[in-house]
Amino acid sequence: MNEIWVFAEQRDGKLESVALELLSKGRELAAKSGYRLAAVLLSENGEALAPELFAYGAQKVYRLDDPRFAYYQNDWWSEAFVSLVREKGPEIVLVGATTVGRSLAPTAASILHCGLTADCTRLDFDPETKLLLQTRPAFGGNIMATIVCADTRPQMATVRPNVFKKEPLPGAPSGGELVNVPVDLSGVPCRMKRLKVVKEGGDDVNLAEAKAIVSGGRGLGSPEKFSLVRELASVLGAAVGASRATVDAGWISPLHQVGQTGKTVCPKLYVAVGISGAIQHLAGMQSSDTIVAINSDPNAPIFDVADYGLVGDLNEIVPAIVAAVKARRGA
Ligand SMILES: Cc1cc2nc3c(=O)[nH]c(=O)nc-3n(C[C@H](O)[C@H](O)[C@H](O)COP(=O)(O)OP(=O)(O)OC[C@H]3O[C@@H](n4cnc5c(N)ncnc54)[C@H](O)[C@@H]3O)c2cc1C
Repeated sequence: MNEIWVFAEQRDGKLESVALELLSKGRELAAKSGYRLAAVLLSENGEALAPELFAYGAQKVYRLDDPRFAYYQNDWWSEAFVSLVREKGPEIVLVGATTVGRSLAPTAASILHCGLTADCTRLDFDPETKLLLQTRPAFGGNIMATIVCADTRPQMATVRPNVFKKEPLPGAPSGGELVNVPVDLSGVPCRMKRLKVVKEGGDDVNLAEAKAIVSGGRGLGSPEKFSLVRELASVLGAAVGASRATVDAGWISPLHQVGQTGKTVCPKLYVAVGISGAIQHLAGMQSSDTIVAINSDPNAPIFDVADYGLVGDLNEIVPAIVAAVKARRGA
């Protein structure tokens, strides 16, 4: 079947932003390929979610309702997903590289014996070969590799949140075809059992949704100096990010890491404090709207992507900005 599928991940009955980002990109791929764009929604009751998927360009929504889809359980979700892929035979399947997607997509790909390109940063369609061009960093981020799956179907890729922009269809949402798929999981065991839900971190760690992020790097010199980053983040209403060097040094939790092996972010404002701008860090933040860099080395590569560069000692610059913002708020 000539369809492009987007896995419409939901959590607690709310669609994950990455699903809408993938639909936005999927529209472009559908236009180039002539394939139909469909979303696959596994949830307890997906009725309320389908209109949002149509609004982002899904022409069809496969709705699979079952109490076992209230939260992610790999055995049941992958069984239902793979059965539908086998029945309908889509050409392309796109999945968000969330913790759920990073479990579901490889499980499905291994059962289906098809390829899977993880963490793509660019997707395109070649109308001549009819192949999905899946581009991602390789060799430690030093080259961009474009990967194709010529022999097996579906062509599967995961993409991290915030790589593509989320754009609803212009004009009034028109709706689409809703396909209610019967779910039969009888006899399918589930080896996973949820004992309790532990939510890690506070608001300052919600990097994916943050409008502003202040990130600290090794230039801080010690874990205690993260207090400077936190103070600036607090006055700006920003989340706190970090380079991998600081995470590896144990200065801050990995939940804060930005970059190739951390989170990809796209805030309106990104402030890099004492971060050199290694390619692996840039891979996670360079599409931010406005980048401000504070670094004592005028030749630091972070200045190549910065909109505003402040050359100097962060121990002087950060408190000065904090004081200026506070003074302005007070005025
Ligand atoms: C496969 C792979 C994946 C990776 N993934 C990631 C990733 O996801 N995210 C990531 O961040 N890195 C990642 N890295 C590591 C990356 O290559 C860099 O090592 C790392 O980003 C460096 O962190 P940093 O900028 O904090 O430290 P440094 O490179 O040491 O930079 C510190 C900066 O602070 C400046 N500085 C020092 N003192 C001051 C001062 N007083 N005031 C102002 N500035 C000062 C220095 O001039 C310097 O530019 C990865 C590496 C590999 C090989």
